[in-house]
Amino acid sequence: MSFIPDFAPSLSRLGTESAFEVLSRAARMQSQGHDVINLGIGQPDFRTPEHIVEAGRKALSDGAHGYTPANGLLPLREAVAADLGRRHGLAGETEVDPDHVVVVPGGKPTMFFACLMFGRPGVEILYPNPGFPIYESVIRYTGATAVPIELREENGFAFDADTVLSQITDATRLIIVNSPANPTGGVTPKAEIDKLVAGLAAHPHVAILSDEIYSQMLYGGREHTSLLSYPEIRDRLILLDGWSKTYAMTGWRLGFAIWPKSMVDHATRLCINDHSCVNAASQHAGLAALTGPQDEVRDMVAQFDRRRQAIVGWLDAIPGFRCGDPGGAFYAFPNISGTGMNARALQDLLLAEAHVATVAGTSFGIHGEGYLRFSYANSLENIEEAMNRIERVLERQSTLSPGG
Ligand code: PLP
Repeated sequence: MSFIPDFAPSLSRLGTESAFEVLSRAARMQSQGHDVINLGIGQPDFRTPEHIVEAGRKALSDGAHGYTPANGLLPLREAVAADLGRRHGLAGETEVDPDHVVVVPGGKPTMFFACLMFGRPGVEILYPNPGFPIYESVIRYTGATAVPIELREENGFAFDADTVLSQITDATRLIIVNSPANPTGGVTPKAEIDKLVAGLAAHPHVAILSDEIYSQMLYGGREHTSLLSYPEIRDRLILLDGWSKTYAMTGWRLGFAIWPKSMVDHATRLCINDHSCVNAASQHAGLAALTGPQDEVRDMVAQFDRRRQAIVGWLDAIPGFRCGDPGGAFYAFPNISGTGMNARALQDLLLAEAHVATVAGTSFGIHGEGYLRFSYANSLENIEEAMNRIERVLERQSTLSPGG
């Protein structure tokens, strides 16, 4: 008789990130000789800047082969604190204490740890929907109730503070916010953040996780408002950021969080239980990223902006599509309901017929129906070719099924 595992029920509640599924389907098609244009995956198509790679290489040559402190090397944590201070204009009571920085393997562990700390049956956690799929997945994994904060196209996919505040109950323990946002590129204006922070005074039992991993990718003169700059919530704010997107370092697995005093030791203990520490060479590379020249980051963002402006115009011109103006990250999230197809059907059609990988809006939650995510982390030439292929496939489709 074969082994039948008696799994913990929580395992069946764990979701996934469909972008990885799309990536492996696209890779399979490529290996079969198809010329697939990948607008599905959320990672910069640039190389990690050479001086960062060199710092990692040098660390390995110099013998940085052992464990580091679980929360990260002190010079790295000091550099993180200084960088946040510079970028967000922090001073005095908003300044970051390097002892509150916890370095982790990427952005994801922080969301996992935050949800593990607060999530349990009977507790509610609010999260953006459409939003990064891992939030809902890990909330549900803990047994907590995942309460979607619906993000709407007419608000540019920014959250509405009054709506968020009205969703808080006695059972709410954590609110997750993300600006600039995946999958929509939405940027929440400072006025809404001000309102949310002011309103939270009436809910002292609620912690906040602010995912600011795209904080350096803003366009059209928009500026980032970090929740770190509000002293009144610093005792319950978890700030998530990292190197993956800003420095094109997704594969190095390096991220960090700023935890408040009451949570930082628990976060470090979770590190010790989970992964001990981030590999030392990545930490040295991350230090070089923060302390070295930033011109390649600026160039990368400028290139993303050029692609953003192009893809938005092209998408908006496709019959059945309507695309707003994403203010940040590197995603466009057009409304595709005019095609008469649902998001998953269109994602599958475009991959199979146009050989263009995208991700259905429903991969980011139920409120993503009617939308498709396009990552513009690809060359302008490839993006233009993808748009032409999509138009041709949709044209053919409409002649095959007129009216549909
Ligand atoms: N947060 C958001 C909003 C993201 O889009 C991503 C990655 O796509 C992450 C966190 C995770 O980043 P990392 O690859 O560093 O774990």
